[in-house]
Amino acid sequence: MSDEYKVAILGAGIGGLGMAARLRMEGETSFVILEKADAIGGTWRENTYPGAACDVQSHLYWYAFDDEQPNWSRLYGQQPEIRANIDSFVERHGLAEHIRLDAEVSRATWDDAGGAWVIETVSGEQIRAELFIGAWGQLNRPSFKGIPGRESFRGEAFHSAQWRHDVDLTGKRVAVVGNGASAVQIVPEIAEQVASLTVFQRSANYHVPRMDRPYDPEELRTFSDPARLRESREAFYAEHESWVGAMQLESNPVLDEFYRIARELLDTQVPDPVLREKLWPDYPLGCKRVLVADTYYPALMRDDVELVTDRIAEVVPEGIRTQDGTVHEFDVVVFATGFETLSFLGSLEITGRDGRSLRDIWQDGAHAYLGITVNGFPNFFLLYGPNTNLGHNSIILMLECQYDYVLQALRAREAHSAVALDVRADAMQRYNDQLQEQLRSTAFAGGCNSWYKTAEGHITNNWSGSVDDYRQATRQLQVEDYEMLQSATA
Ligand code: NAP
Repeated sequence: MSDEYKVAILGAGIGGLGMAARLRMEGETSFVILEKADAIGGTWRENTYPGAACDVQSHLYWYAFDDEQPNWSRLYGQQPEIRANIDSFVERHGLAEHIRLDAEVSRATWDDAGGAWVIETVSGEQIRAELFIGAWGQLNRPSFKGIPGRESFRGEAFHSAQWRHDVDLTGKRVAVVGNGASAVQIVPEIAEQVASLTVFQRSANYHVPRMDRPYDPEELRTFSDPARLRESREAFYAEHESWVGAMQLESNPVLDEFYRIARELLDTQVPDPVLREKLWPDYPLGCKRVLVADTYYPALMRDDVELVTDRIAEVVPEGIRTQDGTVHEFDVVVFATGFETLSFLGSLEITGRDGRSLRDIWQDGAHAYLGITVNGFPNFFLLYGPNTNLGHNSIILMLECQYDYVLQALRAREAHSAVALDVRADAMQRYNDQLQEQLRSTAFAGGCNSWYKTAEGHITNNWSGSVDDYRQATRQLQVEDYEMLQSATA
């Protein structure tokens, strides 16, 4: 394989692969996808826990530009089906030959003189690329924050995103730490198998019904017609967009309706008023991810499932000690404790013009222009970057906007015979000032701890509005917001 490319994409998850397919569709073949793991799929490769599924309807969780849409078997895609569809996408779009597995990038440095990115892998490979596209995602570094003593545990313990399929849970005393989007999918799946299950909840979450089901043969026939599938996708899109009001702090009809639905689900599924009290959040709806889950509460109602709301003090050899001094004994502990989401970089070092370090620039919180470009980092584009996560709709839709934007940038670069585009500092500043102002009235700014924001309350992960707003913001690349570098040293 050549080590010089027009484009290098970091990450063979659904985001990076979608970008690669769009490049190919534009006739671009000089690109490489660098993937640290030994297989593709990103989050859908890593998360193989029992019950792993998408909480966005399958028709809305796929790229509109893909001319061969998957024939989804059910309303909400489950991990094996999503993974298989990603494999088929790679094959159909001829991407396999562009992917380098076991290629963990440690450093990417902009070479001013050469007008290219120099990308180094942990194993010592060096790749040059005119454009560097970061598609490493937001949710892939397991977090165990606030849980000391894990190494002392005598049984088996693992994170939800590193599921140990070799550990048989049958007849075991199992703990699940956490009750977020991953935990609520795991708990109902394993409750029947284990001897006892204890769920450690630090804060409650709002739940709305999922009503997942397989599509019947008639529906499958209907959706094999691309026009009908498109209609279905558009209907889900419109429905999710109408939920954006539920991501606001101030009372409004959509938010009120969400509170009503969440309360009704809890009241219907949990007859015990004491348990109901524990399961009703004390923070505004939308501040953390609203969980689309209707099998979790019923699982908690089982005699062999217990909800513990005492805070965890530490993991001990026998199990988990809570702050009231009780030692809860377990054979297996599952940490469904989420991910380190705020650094956006992990151990990756990215150095831009004049030796600027992205880590330094982001030390008070990751930020970018439209979540895509960063001043001082020419020809560097982020996918699912800072402030592009959503609470109400599908990330696939945001990625589609980002692909279009990157392709516009490529065309602008050519039209201006430029070596590189660098977003202007004032444009990026203005954008972020306005974004943070808009975020102040969203539910994400409410009084809760979430993976969307720093301890100081700076929201680094979420977009402030609807997908339509983001489509509008990214529709037309504003050339005046960019410096066109005519020669690399200019
Ligand atoms: P998460 O939402 O961050 O949940 C982590 C859970 O662990 C929370 O309940 C958290 O409590 C708890 N926790 C963390 N540290 C703790 C500690 N020291 N003591 C006690 N509890 C602790 O992580 P996740 O469930 O893996 O989901 C992360 C994101 O992945 C989701 O928001 C979603 O965007 C995505 N996801 C999506 C799907 C899907 O269906 N598409 C499925 C899974 C995940 P607190 O709430 O108190 O912090």
